Amino acid sequence: MDLRYPAETEEFRAEIRQWLIDNLPEGWGTPGFSMSKERKKAFNRDWVKRLYDGGWICASWPQKYGGKGLSLIESVVLNEEFARVEAPLRADFFGDTLVGPTILQWATEDQKQQFIPGILRGTISWCQGFSEPDAGSDLASLKTRAEVDGDEWVINGQKVWTTQAQFADYIFLLARTDPDAPKHAGISYLLVPMKQDGIEVRPIEQVDGSADFNEIFFTNARCPKENVVGGVNNGWKVAMTTLGFERGSSATTGYRRFRRELDQIVAEAQRNGRVSDPLIRQRLARAWTNVKIMEINGYRALTDSLNGTHHADALGAGNKMFWSEHHQETMELALDILGLDGQILTGDPTDAVDARLKRGRDDYPVSDLQASFFFSRSETIWGGTAEIQRNIVGERVLGLPKEPKPVAPG
Ligand SMILES: Cc1cc2nc3c(=O)[nH]c(=O)nc-3n(C[C@H](O)[C@H](O)[C@H](O)COP(=O)(O)OP(=O)(O)OC[C@H]3O[C@@H](n4cnc5c(N)ncnc54)[C@H](O)[C@@H]3O)c2cc1C
Repeated sequence: MDLRYPAETEEFRAEIRQWLIDNLPEGWGTPGFSMSKERKKAFNRDWVKRLYDGGWICASWPQKYGGKGLSLIESVVLNEEFARVEAPLRADFFGDTLVGPTILQWATEDQKQQFIPGILRGTISWCQGFSEPDAGSDLASLKTRAEVDGDEWVINGQKVWTTQAQFADYIFLLARTDPDAPKHAGISYLLVPMKQDGIEVRPIEQVDGSADFNEIFFTNARCPKENVVGGVNNGWKVAMTTLGFERGSSATTGYRRFRRELDQIVAEAQRNGRVSDPLIRQRLARAWTNVKIMEINGYRALTDSLNGTHHADALGAGNKMFWSEHHQETMELALDILGLDGQILTGDPTDAVDARLKRGRDDYPVSDLQASFFFSRSETIWGGTAEIQRNIVGERVLGLPKEPKPVAPG
């Protein structure tokens, strides 16, 4: 592992630093800096436009498609500088991180011209329609059907756990387009407009009143025939690249949010005196060690990528498993430190009604730590469960025998 960055990247780092100084609100990042709710909303709206004008959204994409064609090390520096000052660096997670790169890799030129500009500007918001009631880890069991009718696909079926479907303009979904083919072979990857009569979105309310994900029912929903990405019945391969993007992470910045949160937890322990409890100290030290492991592993992964010795499966699956389990453990520790205080809802009720903040009820105003505790429960599930990540590491990285496939009786 070599922690020195090439000298020429420092010039680029300085350019980004200057851009951030010029564009972030005055006082950003200084102790005591805060924005009113209205100002925060205005900032969020304006920021995506500034990012777009600066060319920073998806800056590693080719210039031909609106990126800056950044090298890997430049992208890392870009992420580091934004993370250093905690400035957001995306227009729409599903667009920038999942469907955008998938479109770049698999779509036709016409599809790229149609969808990429809206993704970069953040003017089309997306949701991901993969999971179904009987197809989660075993995604290839999906039953939603799509059949051609004239110039259109007609879609019938159900998706579930679809995050932000209630806000999305488009869904990238997997549908069975050849029911007679073996289950991985008869699937296609479709881009379907959400605002139409054949689509009903039903939010699923969580224990804290948030409703960030949904069930979606398709009853003769339609999309143009040409909205299939990567070819008819080739959707499994296309979907695997999307999931690969979801499981990857920003090598040298991913650990920072855990570090920040741990600092907050330590401050709580100092405030209420639990920091002198030897068992709490031991658990805090373990959490700190885990964050350090993530940090060092990030540099190791970056070094491997630069040297061309990078193992995508090992990195993606191993990382996902490690950070999600670390985070659950740490948030349990946080609530133990808070003790009975952790049961009191200390969040700001005026924040709580903003559905985009994953909080849905003003009578259940969770604090940041409480919200993070709740959300951490889901992190070993979404994007491939921790058990599935272990299977990937076991089979594809360590070369262990494949798990036995259960055979239906009869
Ligand atoms: C916060 C959140 C957001 C989500 N957002 C989306 C979204 O936007 N779009 C979308 O399509 N989906 C989304 N999902 C769904 C997610 O992808 C699925 O929940 C996940 O793939 C697991 O599927 P499942 O829930 O059906 O569980 P199952 O696959 O039924 O698994 C149940 C349990 O069995 C275990 N298990 C299953 N198979 C094996 C195996 N072979 N070996 C060992 N153990 C196994 C699992 O690890 C798990 O513990 C989201 C989920 C969450 C929690």
